[in-house]
This record gives sequence, structure tokens and C-alpha cells, in this order.
Amino acid sequence: MAFRITPRQFRSVITSAANFHISPPFQICTKAPSKSRGWSTTKSFHGLSFKHDIAQLSQVKLGLPIVPTGFSRYLSTMKTPSTARRVVRIVEVGVRDGLQNEKQIVPTEIKLELIDRLADAGLKTIEATSFVSPKWIPQMADQTELMQKLTRRPGLHYPVLVPNMKGFEESVFSAASESFSKKNTNCSIEESLRRCEEVVKAARAANIRVRGYVSCVVGCPYEGKIAPEATSKVAKALYDMGCYEISLGDTIGVGTPGSVRKMLEDVMKTVPSEALAVHFHDTYGQALANVMMAVEMGINVVDSSVAGLGGCPYAPGASGNAATEDVVYMLHGLGLDTGVELSKLISAGEFICKFLQRPTASKVAQALQRRRKTVDGSISC
Ligand SMILES: [Zn+2]
Repeated sequence: MAFRITPRQFRSVITSAANFHISPPFQICTKAPSKSRGWSTTKSFHGLSFKHDIAQLSQVKLGLPIVPTGFSRYLSTMKTPSTARRVVRIVEVGVRDGLQNEKQIVPTEIKLELIDRLADAGLKTIEATSFVSPKWIPQMADQTELMQKLTRRPGLHYPVLVPNMKGFEESVFSAASESFSKKNTNCSIEESLRRCEEVVKAARAANIRVRGYVSCVVGCPYEGKIAPEATSKVAKALYDMGCYEISLGDTIGVGTPGSVRKMLEDVMKTVPSEALAVHFHDTYGQALANVMMAVEMGINVVDSSVAGLGGCPYAPGASGNAATEDVVYMLHGLGLDTGVELSKLISAGEFICKFLQRPTASKVAQALQRRRKTVDGSISC
């Protein structure tokens, strides 16, 4: 049976969320249209000034001067003097995207401590939970308790994922075959976007910023390759609805720098780079290379998961996200600023890996752990 959330129920979630003082952003999910599905442009209902406001808010958040939108992209790609290093913001998704794939239920206290340790490491945006039905994702059943107990630090953001009903179905049923999806949900991209629009409207009415999320941006387990134009259309529709940022997700981790470049080139024709984020899974070992490509193309927001936690409940065999430790190490190596302290981040990863009783998926953490052991004299090589 499909999980259903009515606009009324959603409003109550929004209201409770507002009571939790979640400043930004809600996220909504949709999926890139498959080759065989049609879709149509969703009406825009916001004015140009709104887009500018959002762009300016992002600039303020990054501690950058407010500049006209047209200049933002220029600034993001220009060589910056060493005194004003380019900032890449990490959106830590391990607590939600990572843990939601774990069968072992992680107690709320452990999640809260992980969030705290990630905040200690300097992460400013930590996705905290997801307001999905516990029937579908039991790991997120403590969503309300977690948000109530969460100690918020000033300047930090703890977004939560609110899949609208159709977006959620898209996520759930994209794991099945196309024919299964059509028979069971009759779900079109157009319908998905219409429901997203409801979410954005309700959130904006409650003064909550919304981050859009497009999954399967370069490939789908059942449809194969996804055309860049298909992803662009969905991203543009979400942007036009008023999403302040669109996270482009390679949910199953099949992308390569080549396919990612083509996809981003197309998306950036209609959505400015400062409104885009990337989200890569590492199934084929390409996540870090894909992050590099996106950053080179001027993207300044990267989703990643501490210790490379995660997978995809709807895409069996998919690996976790790019490990935050590896992304941070690479970005620092490029001379970019993330505001993250690597040693503290690694110890946050060790904390959750110890609880889950598994080794970290982060190559950087593995290397530093080996080095530590060598230095300690317990291992020699
Ligand atoms: Zn993901």
C-alpha cells in the first residue's frame, strides 16, 4: 500500500516543523523523467525578485558579499586571492540519507551525538531526519523526538526531508520496473511536479525555504541513461517554483565525469550555478571525480555523507554517498575552504562506524587510521 500524505497532513508537518524552528530548508524529492514518460512545464508562481532574494540569502550564508545574480557565477569560478578563498559548502547527509539504509535501528541519542560531533567538526548544514512514514523507513520513526531533542547551534542549519506524497512514491517505486510504476502509481513527472508545487507553496506560506531534490539525474536502474535535457526540465521546474537550491542526485552512482559534465552543462543553461548542488553516490567509484567535475564547473554546494554511509533503499547494490572526509580532503587540496576540521570529522565517522560495527568507507579516514596505527607501533608496513 502506498504511503499517502494529504496537503492537510503536510500543512500539519510544516506547522510542527516551524515550531521546531527549522530555519532552512525543507527538501522535496522528485525524479528525473524517464525517456518513455512525458511531462510538461510547471507554471512559475514567483517573481524574479524572489530568486534574487534567495541568491542573496545564500551569499550571506556563505559569508560572501551580496552581488547581483549574474556576477555570482562569475565570482564562483574566478580565481580568488588567497585572502578570500572560494567556499564550498558541504551538506552533510549521513544522518538521513546514510542511516536510512541501515537495517539496525540507530537510537535517537546516537543520532543526536553524531549530529553534535559533525557540528563540532565545522559542518554548517546537517540533514537531520526525514518526515516519511515509519512504515517505509523505520529508521526515521524518531523524526519528531529527534527534532525536539536536537540542540540547535546558531548559524547551523538542520534541514529535514519532506517527501511530498508523489515525490515519495517516485522514490519508492523507481526501484521497481517502469511497468510496475505505471501499473501501481500511474505516476507521471508532471503529477510529481504538481505535488512539489503544493509543498513549495505551503512551505513558503510558513516562511520556510525549500530545497528541491532531483534523483537519478544521469541514470536510472530501470531506464538506463537519463538524457541531460530531461534532468534540466525538472530542475528548471523546481527552480521556477521557488526552490532556493536544487540538489542534483546521482542516486545509484552510475555517473562519470563525462555524463555529469553533459548533465550540468545542460542544467546550467537554465538554472544558475549558485542555485545548484550535487549529490553523488559511489557505486562505481566515481563520486569524488564527479564532485571534482562539478566544482570545476562552478558548483559550490556538495552533498556528502560522513564515513560514506548509505546506499539507496530503492536501488539495490547502490553504494553510499561520497564520503565527507574524502570530499573535504580533496577540496582542501584544491585550496578551497569548507570550514570543516578533518580530524574532528574523522572522529565523528569513527563514532558512528563503531556503533554500526563496520569499517568506514572513507579512503581518507582509512589512510589516516592506518597511519595512526603505524605511528602507534601496533602495525608496521
Ligand atoms: Zn542519496
